[in-house]
Amino acid sequence: MAIIEECGDICRPKIGVYALTSCYGCQLKLATVQKIMEIVQAVEIESFYMISSASRMGSDVDVAFVEGSVSTEKDLEELKEIREHSRILVALGACAVNGGVQSWAEGDKDYKKLYAEVYGEGKITMQGRQATPVSDHVKVDYFLPGCPPEEDELMYFISAFLFGTFPEPKDYPVCAECRLAGNSCILIEKGEPCLGPVTTAGCKARCLSHNVPCIGCRGPVPHGTAWFDSLAKLFKEKGFDRDYIRDRMKIFGAHDENLEPMLDKIFGGSK
Ligand code: SF4
Ligand code: SF4
Ligand code: SF4
Repeated sequence: MAIIEECGDICRPKIGVYALTSCYGCQLKLATVQKIMEIVQAVEIESFYMISSASRMGSDVDVAFVEGSVSTEKDLEELKEIREHSRILVALGACAVNGGVQSWAEGDKDYKKLYAEVYGEGKITMQGRQATPVSDHVKVDYFLPGCPPEEDELMYFISAFLFGTFPEPKDYPVCAECRLAGNSCILIEKGEPCLGPVTTAGCKARCLSHNVPCIGCRGPVPHGTAWFDSLAKLFKEKGFDRDYIRDRMKIFGAHDENLEPMLDKIFGGSK
């Protein structure tokens, strides 16, 4: 997957930044990172609609950053086209990685009913789909979580590709960063419903540093990490039952295959 070593010192890897159904917040974050001018000099921006009117679909790129969930037939077509023309595909942000908040529809609340409730009957004519993560449809090489992703992680990913290496995923929970930041634990001390123990780190406990409980925007931590065994049990002690924690985790993690096994581990298979 190395980029530089295959094309020499003067190589400027071609980058594409694309949006499926999303709020465009991840692209905006990438467009406004402090070192964007240095990045632009190091790479060739083949497509990035937010910053370049010369952008277009269908051109070959070394790295495609794809924001948003697959929520329409057009999204699906575009995603397949992007994959076909990319050497490396990165799912950028919570919508692309986990489907985002738009992907959580319960029971009979399918996307058609939700369209009708939000916009009115017959108002939406596009061909919709139940919103799903990018990896449900194409091979994803790397996942960059967050809503939106953190600036230092964006820089880390881009730097890793420029150096011909690859970005390491994080496999520990927000609690680790929260404690390192010197925060007191609002789950233990105030009984706040914080999802830090079961959420993938990388945001430096952003919300906790403002005394706001984590709602899991970076998605569930990989199943089976050590912290989760000891600390997540606090949910039970603080009176948050399985349904409550599941509902909170589903905001950003409805499609995570380990959601129920994780809940089993916290609640011992009980309700
Ligand atoms: S992950 Fe968050 S910031 Fe990025 S497109 Fe989705 S809703 Fe917007
Ligand atoms: S449960 Fe929340 S407040 Fe407590 S250490 Fe973990 S992230 Fe911080
Ligand atoms: S603390 Fe939780 S909700 Fe806040 S940015 Fe980090 S992962 Fe997202």
